[in-house]
Amino acid sequence: MNKNHIVFFENLLGEENVYFDKAHQIAYSYDATKKRYEPDGVLFPRNEDDVSKILKYCNDNHIIVVPRGAGSGFTGGALAVNGGVIISFEKHMNKILEIDLENMVAVVEPGVINMDLQKAVEEKGLFYPPDPASQDYSTIGGNVSENAGGMRAAKYGITKDYVMALRAVLPNGDIIKAGKKTIKDVAGYNVAGILIASEGSLAVITEITLKLIAKPKLKKTAMGVFNSVNEAMNAVYKTMAAGVTPVAMEFLDNLCIRAVEDKFNKGLPKEAGAILIADVDGNLEATLEKDLEVINRVFKENGATDFIIAKNEQESKDMWFARRNCSQAITCYGSLKINEDITVPRSELPKLLQRIKEISTVFNVTTPCFGHTGDGNVHTNVMVNKENQEEVKRGYEAIEAIFRATIELGGTLSGEHGIGISKAPYMKLAFSDEEMNLFRSIKKAFDPNNILNPFKMGLDENK
Ligand SMILES: Cc1cc2nc3c(=O)[nH]c(=O)nc-3n(C[C@H](O)[C@H](O)[C@H](O)COP(=O)(O)OP(=O)(O)OC[C@H]3O[C@@H](n4cnc5c(N)ncnc54)[C@H](O)[C@@H]3O)c2cc1C
Repeated sequence: MNKNHIVFFENLLGEENVYFDKAHQIAYSYDATKKRYEPDGVLFPRNEDDVSKILKYCNDNHIIVVPRGAGSGFTGGALAVNGGVIISFEKHMNKILEIDLENMVAVVEPGVINMDLQKAVEEKGLFYPPDPASQDYSTIGGNVSENAGGMRAAKYGITKDYVMALRAVLPNGDIIKAGKKTIKDVAGYNVAGILIASEGSLAVITEITLKLIAKPKLKKTAMGVFNSVNEAMNAVYKTMAAGVTPVAMEFLDNLCIRAVEDKFNKGLPKEAGAILIADVDGNLEATLEKDLEVINRVFKENGATDFIIAKNEQESKDMWFARRNCSQAITCYGSLKINEDITVPRSELPKLLQRIKEISTVFNVTTPCFGHTGDGNVHTNVMVNKENQEEVKRGYEAIEAIFRATIELGGTLSGEHGIGISKAPYMKLAFSDEEMNLFRSIKKAFDPNNILNPFKMGLDENK
């Protein structure tokens, strides 16, 4: 990086907020993909005005800018794949600005950690439902930019369902407001809607206004045991169709059950084909009982051999332990986990899981599956040994076949992790040339010099 540029940033932000040293280049070179790309430097803006001046300068000088939250992304969105500067919000722009109890709205800076917001609003009797498993460290800016989902998505939806308004800075430094604190707003294009899930490629989000809801008072957990994945998948969508919307309806297949049981010895049914874990919530005991009755009936009608209701908080935690520790337990099947978060309409889940099984046989790979089946989102993990190149190649071929099957079933490449660099090569499977060109036109309208997080989302034809 040209010394003049560094001096500009130091004069703007103060030396204590500008780092072009090796330690910072390494510290900000990775995310959850474990791939490494060192940025030239890291900037810590103190406020929106700083962001605006950084972007204007970078735009004028064609310097790449990569916004970064906690770097917990699974697809490389926060990686500086072609150098440039990282803008990080963790140091200064990390405050909850307002919790408006009358309108049930929170206004936050992008660096606020999801769990900090959840705790702050719960102290006031309110509820911010989106709960990605990374909630202890991922930021609201990152959540909005990836449209993060979580365990509670089946009932409460995902990040986009809570974003009411955004403030953001365009690559040329212009500051824009998109949306309002109002429940209704149909004036003009839905710019906030375009920025959600844009993976830091269109604008830098500087303030987020989020809808809050009343916190339900009661919650209960139950687990259904099935002989086959097919039975469990039928039970998922038939439960919803029967009129019950559980907070969560999570699934583990037999490979996952065995991996968790072998590692942690929790008394799980090792011979089961699949288990479903469901939470229901509400304000009346009687409503929860009724919901569990319906779930029990639908599970049994679809072949459940057992239905266990947690008697207390500890038993509920024990049931959830299996799901929460599944991801690490399945590493017993291979040293490289190629994990995807494909999503289909819920009624297609039985077909999707059948197709995954067939594809695993064809490519001779082990594919434990678990995840948020309540919203049709399956974490599909092709496990291979990274030392065996031929096996790794087969693993990626299996992944491509799984993507194709997902799209044939009306599904999407990603339910929550985004595209970034990891899934960029597969965008062509999901979108026509016309659709990809429309994406490129949108990118160009926001970022004509292609300085903001370029070479992501399959937008650059040659990358
Ligand atoms: C163990 C684990 C579990 C996970 N579980 C879930 C899960 O259940 N559900 C889920 O959805 N995801 C999950 N994730 C993925 C990840 O946590 C989410 O994608 C999260 O939203 C990323 O937030 P972050 O702050 O780490 O963002 P980063 O990874 O730093 O960035 C993500 C993207 O957002 C952009 N960005 C960040 N801040 C801004 C901003 N202010 N303006 C513009 N662009 C910005 C970045 O450029 C990048 O493209 C998990 C990750 C891990 C490691």
